[in-house]
Amino acid sequence: MLAPRGKLVYLETFGCQMNELDSELVTSQLSALGYRFTPDADEAGVILYNTCSVREQAEQKVWSRLGLLKSRKSRQPDLLLGVLGCMAERDGRDLLRKFPHVDLLCGPGELDKLPLLLRNASTTAEPAVALQGNTSRRSATLAAAEDSLERLDLSRSFSPGDQRAGGRSAYVRITRGCNKFCTYCVVPFTRGAEMHRPPDTIVEECRMLVEQGVVEITLLGQTVNHYRFEHDAAVTVDGVTQPQKGRSFTGGHDRDPLGGGRVTTFADLLRRLHDEVPDLRRLRFVTSYPRDFGDDVLEAIRECPRICRYIHVPVQSGSNRILEAMNRGYTVEEYRDFIERIRACLPGAMIASDVIVGFPGETEEDFEATVELMRWARFKNCFVFKYSPRPGTPAYDRLPDDVPDEVKRRRNNALLAVQGAISQEIHAAHIDRTVEVFVEGMSTVQARREPALASEPPHPRGAIGLTLNGRSLHGVEAEEDDCGSACATAAEFVPESDANLVQLSGRTEGDLITVFQAPRARAQALIGSIVPVRIEEARTLTLKGVLAE
Ligand code: SAM
Ligand code: SF4
Repeated sequence: MLAPRGKLVYLETFGCQMNELDSELVTSQLSALGYRFTPDADEAGVILYNTCSVREQAEQKVWSRLGLLKSRKSRQPDLLLGVLGCMAERDGRDLLRKFPHVDLLCGPGELDKLPLLLRNASTTAEPAVALQGNTSRRSATLAAAEDSLERLDLSRSFSPGDQRAGGRSAYVRITRGCNKFCTYCVVPFTRGAEMHRPPDTIVEECRMLVEQGVVEITLLGQTVNHYRFEHDAAVTVDGVTQPQKGRSFTGGHDRDPLGGGRVTTFADLLRRLHDEVPDLRRLRFVTSYPRDFGDDVLEAIRECPRICRYIHVPVQSGSNRILEAMNRGYTVEEYRDFIERIRACLPGAMIASDVIVGFPGETEEDFEATVELMRWARFKNCFVFKYSPRPGTPAYDRLPDDVPDEVKRRRNNALLAVQGAISQEIHAAHIDRTVEVFVEGMSTVQARREPALASEPPHPRGAIGLTLNGRSLHGVEAEEDDCGSACATAAEFVPESDANLVQLSGRTEGDLITVFQAPRARAQALIGSIVPVRIEEARTLTLKGVLAE
């Protein structure tokens, strides 16, 4: 049935996996209320941007889209234009001053209120606004008030046809927000205090997803290893156990010091999911924080074969001076010690990282220390970002952005070259080996060659992936600056033109992108399954092989 224009939504998503999940939850919430989604902004009566504020570049894309919509809004006053997510929270009413044609602002902590905001925005001339401000940090108790956002996760309806990898891959949030306050980062201000979801709820959500055919689940949180739920402090409101605020955490290397019978630690949660959802084939988690990652978590990964041996643990810099200025709370020596513990406990594990170049005060010596750390750590991949000063963060207020852009760019490219050589070697070591690949969809090349055949289901949200640490729709990292297209192009294996074959793309347990050709007639059935692939060739970002069934 055709939806009336006022109920036809175009939703575009920017940013990390957390935003992708938020968009999925919003989609399911609005669909239940009769809204329908279109990938074509021109035919929509409601245009929503789910935004990212981590770097200015991501914000500029949204400003430009909002600017372009100004004349359409004057021609079509009943068009509803909404900004969701981190930009709404960060810019707040300033955004309405710059773009008075925006009808609705909704921060990431208020997304459960979106239906009400849409109704208000369509019936009054005033913009409808729901922002969290500082309220999430006010209460001192672990779970004092009702957390209405929890209901959004709980009401999730998963429609396999609309999801990544043919509905076989899903994200599940275990914590929201962040308490770390790294000096460069907006997240603690836009997503509020760290909140930990009750473990029973997480297990139930994963069980429900697996019953609906999900094969791979990625647990999400800004610092997943800080997950902890204290059962004696649990509060239930209207039958819903409430998430808890994160306490300051100094877990050290061994165990969570508060771990024990009445506390579910991150290691406990992983083991519960592994044991209580036995049909889940792959369990992943992002992002890990280099401090307080206990040996108990490493042991859980070692002992539970369906937990992927892949750890994304951003280091940000190889210089202690810069790490301190970033308020990261660990030294390079501690980071190295963590990598050594991973290697000792989980031989063959793949480790990925993030680095920021050009942080205020970064000298050539600091930068060289990062190069050295990268050579030593041998990450399987590393996202390199040029420092972007973000208003409202401590670094923006206190530290001048004193590294010139051309120096940032040079350092960025130099790190990408170092990492590229390491990734190439790690990939090449897989030649002649057979790896298990979770098939996500058509490869980028195949989808470009035959857009109509793209293995992704027609994306109901019109979402695009400007993914920071996430994945693009077709299995190639979609970083939008220096690394971006150059790396993506270098990664591509152009398949031979054969009408009976298509090129599929997927990931190994260690998150290595792998492409292979498969009979066209079987392609849709293979998407979402785990298949053996014998590796024949390796490039910087991609492995290429043949089906080894
Ligand atoms: N919570 C994760 C952690 O601490 O490792 C990272 C989350 S953050 C949204 C993703 C990445 O964006 C960070 O690891 C960092 O490298 C990068 N990032 C964050 N703020 C940035 C800024 N102001 N400029 C450049 N890169 C930034
Ligand atoms: Fe940002 Fe640091 Fe929190 Fe990661 S840990 S989200 S970088 S403040």
